[in-house]
Amino acid sequence: MADILLRGGRVIDPARNLDVTADVLLQDGKVARIEAGIAAGAAKVIDVKGMWVVPGFIDLHCHLREPGQEYKENIATGTAAAAAGGFTAVCAMPNTVPPNDNRAITELMVRRAQEVGMVRVYPIGCITQGQKGENLAEMGELQDAGCVAVSDDGRSVMNSEVMRRALEYARGLGLVVIQHAEDVSLSANGPAHEGAASTRIGLRCQPSAAESAMVARDLELVALTGARYHVAHVSCAETVRLVREAKRRGLPVTCEVTPHHLTLTDEACAGYDTSTRVNPPLRSAADLAAVREGLADGTIDAVATDHAPHSPIEKDVEFEQAASGMIGLETALPLCLDLVATKKMTPLALMDRMSTAPAKILGLPGGTLAPGSIADVTVVDPEAVWTCEAGRFRSRSHNSPFIGRSLRGRAMLTVVGGKIVFAEEKLLG
Ligand SMILES: [Zn+2]
Repeated sequence: MADILLRGGRVIDPARNLDVTADVLLQDGKVARIEAGIAAGAAKVIDVKGMWVVPGFIDLHCHLREPGQEYKENIATGTAAAAAGGFTAVCAMPNTVPPNDNRAITELMVRRAQEVGMVRVYPIGCITQGQKGENLAEMGELQDAGCVAVSDDGRSVMNSEVMRRALEYARGLGLVVIQHAEDVSLSANGPAHEGAASTRIGLRCQPSAAESAMVARDLELVALTGARYHVAHVSCAETVRLVREAKRRGLPVTCEVTPHHLTLTDEACAGYDTSTRVNPPLRSAADLAAVREGLADGTIDAVATDHAPHSPIEKDVEFEQAASGMIGLETALPLCLDLVATKKMTPLALMDRMSTAPAKILGLPGGTLAPGSIADVTVVDPEAVWTCEAGRFRSRSHNSPFIGRSLRGRAMLTVVGGKIVFAEEKLLG
């Protein structure tokens, strides 16, 4: 593979608190040097003036649908979407068909990702067998086969005793437990957030307490067990407050927020567009402000897409019948850049939440441009304005409420282990 010299970009490395204009030389799959005026030698030179050179984004939470639902997405299309969005690594949730609760499924996912050769794929294994919330999955076997964490995402571990044992077992293995926090007796599969908008438009709804009550219970179990706990897709002010307090108490807790919970409120559901049906649901303006604040002050550690592809079979139906989820890998960056445009976050802080922090949470390679580290690098044009169009998605599914919208900011180049896996034509000239 050819060496690459990224010439004259704004180099942002949150792992070293670095934000300078310099050249970046990628050599033999590693970051070799960061300096001004590096001689090109035999390297392929790419002019990135006016752009950011950052450690590749790492998504802690996406659904690649393989095995079992390849009509929605597969590992090839999902990782192509990831690369186009600037991601160099993604964690694949275990609610495949069948669920990833055993070695064979994990190994299949790892093998497929290697064959495809786009971005790194880290499977997440189930907490419980078949995600049924009853008997623990063989976490040691899952870890051995390549799983980097456990979660029953899509479902909450409702039984407190099962959750306690899961935390204890995972702790022994050094695995993080990722909880889709939802008290299902309280949420009752409500498709919308309980608030003024749902009342007005007449949708069944679930209160934000369905999430925060589950997080409150879990935090007590974390205090009891000392296990590493991560809250998936935080959506409401109460959860942000609980996590903030738990961190103050010194509990080993981290959490993530999706780009859509950072940018849309329950008002987006007013037109009954089924692509706005997500779980947890889009919340109130106060919740939106709280998660933005939480991400800015570091209470929320990471941005994670919860990229959830669905076909028209699941989405061209009544709002109440529609499956939950929207795709997100290819729109995450411009949505999050709004926090920089509105001066809520510095570029350095946002890149931390999209790369350095996720790497740290699961102990993954990447998340830094330090010389000697793997060459997982993304080049961002923060000012590129483009229209989000269905035909442009690499994802096999098009369930996005952002279609037709003008967005600002794009990944221009994505490099994984020194190999270019995505490039905008005009950048390579
Ligand atoms: Zn979930």
